[in-house]
Amino acid sequence: MGKVVADILLNEQEIKSMVKRVAAEIKRDYEGKKPVLVGVLRGSVVFLADLIRELDFELTIDFISVSSYSGTKSTGVVRIIKDTEQDLSGKHIILVEDIVDTGLTLSYLRALFMDRMPASLAVCSAFDKPDCRTVDVPVEYIGQAIPDKFVVGYGLDYKQEYRNLPYLAILGDDGKEDNNE
Ligand code: 5GP
Repeated sequence: MGKVVADILLNEQEIKSMVKRVAAEIKRDYEGKKPVLVGVLRGSVVFLADLIRELDFELTIDFISVSSYSGTKSTGVVRIIKDTEQDLSGKHIILVEDIVDTGLTLSYLRALFMDRMPASLAVCSAFDKPDCRTVDVPVEYIGQAIPDKFVVGYGLDYKQEYRNLPYLAILGDDGKEDNNE
């Protein structure tokens, strides 16, 4: 079936205030510490871009890209496609995620970055699906908890599309056959 936006879960205004609130929490905790915000590609780019423009203090950004664990979901094995470029030892790292679902990706990433001897490590995720968690992993800054639904927009994709929607939406079928499956 083809996909259409069935329901808007969070509109642009709601996302804007969510970003401001999370930025205020990060500012309170990190101002003066020159943190490195590490965006997990590709879903986090929209959130990261909005977030850093609300943070008016010294920081740097970096990126990591990891493969989806499809096919190895139970093991949580994740492959690094593109690694960060800065030396992260002794730095205050904030991992920036689009959404936390099972928590498997994040628990892999937390272990990976802890091995790099940072001064501290925290995670900031735009969205969270707490009902889907299969591993217990801390998420220090959460924009918005949402129900167990597949969402798109604000950086999140379905088959690489919909990332540019300025809102967060739930997809539904439009009743037409989709031959691109
Ligand atoms: P986890 O390892 O926590 O199960 O999955 C995290 C990753 O799965 C996210 O970074 C995101 O790329 C993808 N993901 C999880 N839930 C959703 C969703 O509802 N929509 C989209 N587009 N991606 C999701």
